[in-house]
Amino acid sequence: MAKLRLVKPAALDEPLRSVVGDRTAKVLADGLGLHTTGDLLHHYPRRYATRGELTDLAGLSDGEDVTVLAEVLTARRRRMRQRKGDILEVVVTDGRGRLTLTFFGRGVHEPDKELKPGFRGMFAGRISTYGGRRQLTHPEYHVLPGGADAGGTGGAGTRVLAAAREFADELIPVYPATKGMTSWRIARCVSMILDTVDIGADSMPEPIRRRHDLIGLREAYEGIHRPADLAVARRARERLRWDEAFVVQAALARRRRAAATLPARPRARVEGGLLDAFDARLPFRLTAGQLAVGAEIAADLAAEHPMHRLLQGDVGAGKTVVALRAMLQVVDAGGQAALLAPTEVLAQQHHRSIMTLLGPLAQAGQLGGADEATRAVLLTGSQGAKARRAALLDAASGAAGIVVGTHALLQEHVQFADLGLVVVDEQHRFGVEQRDALREKVAGGRPHVLVMTATPIPRTVAMTVFGDLDTSTLTQLPDGRAAISTHVVPPERPHYLRRAWERIREEVAAGRQVYVVCPRIGDQEGADEDIDEDLIDGDVDEGAGAAGQDDFAQDDPAQDDFAQDDFAQDDFAQDGGEQRTWSVADVLPRLEEDWLPGLRIGVLHGRLPADEKDATMRRFAAGEFDVLLATTVIEVGVDVPNATVMMIMDADRFGVSQLHQLRGRVGRGALPGLCLFVTRSPGGTKARERLDAVAATTDGFELARLDLEQRREGDVLGAAQSGRRSSLKLLTLLKDEELIRTARDEANALIDGDPDLTRHPVLAAELAALVDDDRAEYLEKG
Ligand code: ADP
Ligand code: MG
Repeated sequence: MAKLRLVKPAALDEPLRSVVGDRTAKVLADGLGLHTTGDLLHHYPRRYATRGELTDLAGLSDGEDVTVLAEVLTARRRRMRQRKGDILEVVVTDGRGRLTLTFFGRGVHEPDKELKPGFRGMFAGRISTYGGRRQLTHPEYHVLPGGADAGGTGGAGTRVLAAAREFADELIPVYPATKGMTSWRIARCVSMILDTVDIGADSMPEPIRRRHDLIGLREAYEGIHRPADLAVARRARERLRWDEAFVVQAALARRRRAAATLPARPRARVEGGLLDAFDARLPFRLTAGQLAVGAEIAADLAAEHPMHRLLQGDVGAGKTVVALRAMLQVVDAGGQAALLAPTEVLAQQHHRSIMTLLGPLAQAGQLGGADEATRAVLLTGSQGAKARRAALLDAASGAAGIVVGTHALLQEHVQFADLGLVVVDEQHRFGVEQRDALREKVAGGRPHVLVMTATPIPRTVAMTVFGDLDTSTLTQLPDGRAAISTHVVPPERPHYLRRAWERIREEVAAGRQVYVVCPRIGDQEGADEDIDEDLIDGDVDEGAGAAGQDDFAQDDPAQDDFAQDDFAQDDFAQDGGEQRTWSVADVLPRLEEDWLPGLRIGVLHGRLPADEKDATMRRFAAGEFDVLLATTVIEVGVDVPNATVMMIMDADRFGVSQLHQLRGRVGRGALPGLCLFVTRSPGGTKARERLDAVAATTDGFELARLDLEQRREGDVLGAAQSGRRSSLKLLTLLKDEELIRTARDEANALIDGDPDLTRHPVLAAELAALVDDDRAEYLEKG
């Protein structure tokens, strides 16, 4: 008796090979990264063409890979003059413009037979210009059935006329294609799957479908690949777009729920403790937003389940104080708090400012320490053995209520007596894995977790990438902040640059301080010299930090052609004549000799030893340097209220949020800030537009949107999009906010009613499969 197969592999996991054959499967895999029948079904048409509507040939540009629908006008075969053999020139038209298809040698026979005047076909290849004419050389082509008369109406009765019109209106899907795999071959493969493969049950629960008027899955695949008309295609896309939002939200809802049911030790607020003493000595009044968010966090901490909260707010909104108050509540309740920063510079600064803000409250056991005092210790990878041992001991014994370190603290074997709260500062990408690492630090429970972002993030990103966290937002800046004015210093206005140095000297003369930031360190030769390792170690916001480096790598060549000497004449010429971006090493001697002679200049970048970095920051904060020449190590969090000018060299090398972060280093007190974007990008370029946009507003939420618009979604979602498969194809985080929100509500309700998904086995299976999918990757790493 045949064995029953209890588990039938989901039909969409079928390797393509078994449906379309080995050779085609290989081209689909190599060229488009499609491996399974499901992959191919999710390879959606970019658009639809109709036979009646020919491609606008005037819109094609050189070098473009195109698939055009056009009608053959003439076909002419002749002998080649220079070489042996024939050349076939077929001219096709869209009714107005023309495009020449050229075939020669042995490749002329088939097209010569098939491409007759009046025939319509699809032609795929790369556009080039030859002798002033646009052409495709040896394009792949596909003659549309119906021949020369298909579109014609002459002499026919009404029935024939109607049939002809229907034929002309039929939609032809146009797929993202690749060499060796044209759009129409993809369409054939997709059709094969649709005709033969069992698509399986629909994971979207029927009631949800009904509520939102969504069609079934099978119908949706049919509708997106073989639509009868555009309305059908639209409904199909809508359904599949929903899927993308819903499955992700269901996964997040489950994770949220799982976390919410875990135990945590409640850390309710204690009257008359450190927190009250701290509030009493705070030199400013908390904003309404800080108080409101503080109350949310206080309530979370008092609960028996771990807090998982994201605190976002614009640069300078005052997130640190909010976090510190949460930490003090936990310490008052007998627990410890850890504060993790992305870089050593920032960890050191946090430690310093916590010590200042707490004063005697952080001097337990010391002369002058307050009765209720605790200790705040710093733990970094590179500190001296003795200091480190003392800090480790304080963490393990519980003597330190607050432990400040870099994210590396998670990987190290740091023991805590009773870790109650972990605050992760300035991090966009603090993943589930890291949170898990944290939990191992806590026996018999889980710490409360507060994640703070470096810059505001658009709502939809918060809902997807951070969708398993509750969100608090600080929308206002503390009162009394003076404005920051931002100016682009462009290559066509060399006197702006001279004026900029002058302004800097004036500021310094008035007792203020200045940052000068360069994209590179420049002290080492070689490919990696541009990357500031401190940022990499800290894994600072890849979106911004690494994007800058990415931009650098794929810089537009036009920029490199822009000779340095054309720029700001001698005033800004670099030695050696080699064209490259400004580095700290290049700029230092120029500052000393030409631009800011006599000023006290400190240098800061990631390759300096930790104690030197700390000393430099400390001295800058103490006013011992007028100028801090740095890389983006100062990008996040650095807080020196007396600094009033931020000068960014080759500002076009940085991303939107990075520029906003850097600018946020000035205007932090009552003194007005000045931000200067020095660029060699000529006007009218994308880079210049970006700088102008950042200069035009200081609203971080608006810039976050702009950033999202400018980046590929892939950068937002991490590895998921850059790799072979991408999960969000129809959904765009920028436009589909409403849908994502609705899908989230539905997912929450569903998981609340059926936490283990026992009544939704198909969805459960789909979520389980996510573990091996890139989507999970971005959920985890995102
Ligand atoms: P961010 O949200 O960018 O991390 P910070 O927490 O570093 O901002 O705060 C920026 C500056 O504003 C700090 O110098 C901080 O002491 C100060 N600050 C915070 N809250 C207030 C407030 N309510 N009133 C005045 N200054 C404040
Ligand atoms: Mg901060």
